[in-house]
Amino acid sequence: MPSVCFLTLAWISDKLVPRRHDMVTATKSFINRAGFIPIQCPSCNCVKKVPCERIGQNKRSIKVKCTCGEVFITEIELRRNYRKQTKLVGELKQILPTGKHVSTCKIKNLSLQGTGFQLFNAPIPSLDDTVLISFHLDNKKYSYIEKKAKVTYVQKETGFVGVEFIDYFNGTQDKDMYYFLKA
Ligand SMILES: [Zn+2]
Repeated sequence: MPSVCFLTLAWISDKLVPRRHDMVTATKSFINRAGFIPIQCPSCNCVKKVPCERIGQNKRSIKVKCTCGEVFITEIELRRNYRKQTKLVGELKQILPTGKHVSTCKIKNLSLQGTGFQLFNAPIPSLDDTVLISFHLDNKKYSYIEKKAKVTYVQKETGFVGVEFIDYFNGTQDKDMYYFLKA
């Protein structure tokens, strides 16, 4: 008989797992590309996919109760290559032979490592070009993100461009993006 499992998200904390929970098993769960978090019970090994939306923004760990009776804490983490589909408006700054050029673009996907965006009637950058991409996240803070990036993918016919961020660790930007991607 297949085991049916219902996990209850019993309690949600935005803090790191406190020391006093050392007696409780702690696991790590990762958000997958489809926006689900497969949470596995460390006791009976059953897995329940929880949609990201059920975990509030900024929540880092959740207490889970499994139908087998096991209560455990799992830390929600984001894989670095997790890519979120977005519809943000962005701005691309390029240095062209004719001078600086600023174009509007549509940020179609975003990860901690890079982004893919759509240009409209704008000069398409070449592979390995360094560009500056900026946009606001549609989070509560409307966080401003500005990243230096290297062009890694170009589709001339459609104006779709993929870039990899060069400057990773600049303070609150990456933190805001992390939580934006996690939400
Ligand atoms: Zn279980």
